[in-house]
Amino acid sequence: MRIRRTLPPAAAPISIEDICNGFRGMFQGEIECERFKREIKEFFQIENCFLISSGKAALTIILQALHHLHPERDEVIIPAFTCYSVPSAIIQAGLKIRLCDINPKTLDFDYNQLQLKLRTFQKKTSVSTKNGKSEQKTEKGCFSNKKLLAVLPVHLFGLPADIERLAKIIKDTDIFIVEDAAQAMGSEIQGRKLGTFGDVGFFSLGRGKVLSTVEGGIIITQKKNIANAIQKIFNSLPKYSFKNIVRLFAYSLALNILMRPLLFGLPKNIPCLRLGETIYNPDFPCRKMSAFQAGMSRGWQVKLQYFKELRKNKVIAIARLLQNISTFAYESPYAGLYNIHFPLIRYPIILKDNNDLDLLLKKSEIYGLGFASSYPDSIDSLGDVAAVQKDGEYPQAKKMAKNLLTLPVHPFVTEKDINMIGKMIFRMKPKEDKIGKVHEI
Ligand SMILES: *Cc1c(COP(=O)(O)O)cnc(C)c1O
Repeated sequence: MRIRRTLPPAAAPISIEDICNGFRGMFQGEIECERFKREIKEFFQIENCFLISSGKAALTIILQALHHLHPERDEVIIPAFTCYSVPSAIIQAGLKIRLCDINPKTLDFDYNQLQLKLRTFQKKTSVSTKNGKSEQKTEKGCFSNKKLLAVLPVHLFGLPADIERLAKIIKDTDIFIVEDAAQAMGSEIQGRKLGTFGDVGFFSLGRGKVLSTVEGGIIITQKKNIANAIQKIFNSLPKYSFKNIVRLFAYSLALNILMRPLLFGLPKNIPCLRLGETIYNPDFPCRKMSAFQAGMSRGWQVKLQYFKELRKNKVIAIARLLQNISTFAYESPYAGLYNIHFPLIRYPIILKDNNDLDLLLKKSEIYGLGFASSYPDSIDSLGDVAAVQKDGEYPQAKKMAKNLLTLPVHPFVTEKDINMIGKMIFRMKPKEDKIGKVHEI
């Protein structure tokens, strides 16, 4: 096997120093977790924070807590195209999934469709008078939103979802907004940090995210009642066993070594590491974060800032490369409105032709460029269909699963890589478009 430079699709570097800090943290125990919690509260200017074993576990606990607050409600609306961890957590929390299609320009909800879904309750109860007769109108395929517990916007790849808009269209104050900021820790809109827009938000410290402590999840909320409900569940969570800490330690070493582009070709060929694979699995542990993980986070504010700058610069460089290519689909409402670039964790582009995706993935395989398709299918096609309350079609979500390509923008990506990426995508264009533009790259 030839070893060549191979970029991972996403990566948050873990240094030897981080691992040593993890060790020190272990000896500090609870104090280390308290330190991390205090720092998060200060950074996000938030009253309540919980440290959990993963983003999925964080979401599960949030949903269980919300369900305690409103036991009669058990449905959660999520984007029909999103990370499989989201439906996995909803199922583990014992709740039901409802879907809303996405807007391909923003990868956020299709707000027109969402508005209709949120209005179904009104429709159902509204008494319309026809020929002088009153009648109760119940449309087929409509759900009573009396069952709706929460709406879950996702900042996919770090592109901000428009939560202020969402808050405006949710009229029912019993419906919570759970902000999935797993891929957007540290990003902000007009000085306000993502994760603090919803009633409750969470981050992931998993290996492909903004920052990593191998695995980990953070819940933040300003709402006292939600925090109290979460606290009750948190108190009863198990801790990491010694065996599991050893596994984390081994994994942290493996990531430190193998995520480097020169060696990434190896783990890609080791199937049990499951790198870059998106799996749906509602059976995962929910634990309190360990002091080892909290220790690994030491100095996270500086790292976060540094990684953010690096990512943002790469996003700008790729945006510049692609600006004349019409497949380009980075524009978000905020980018359009305020002309801001965000420190994405992967750079999404929508290809017009699905065949191009396969071709580019093959090319990327050969040249080690770290291209990746995103999620294999829309959420309605997942196994647990019984729990997915299908109430419509999700054509854009389906299309994204087939046509969305993501480009790496993580800290290991170099300028040379970006030029190579640009060339590779540029070659996909029909010949006549290419002429005269070659020199721009
Ligand atoms: C990764 C991710 C999660 C889950 O986080 P883990 O720490 O991997 O469990 C949830 N939502 C989104 C959008 C994610 O990308």
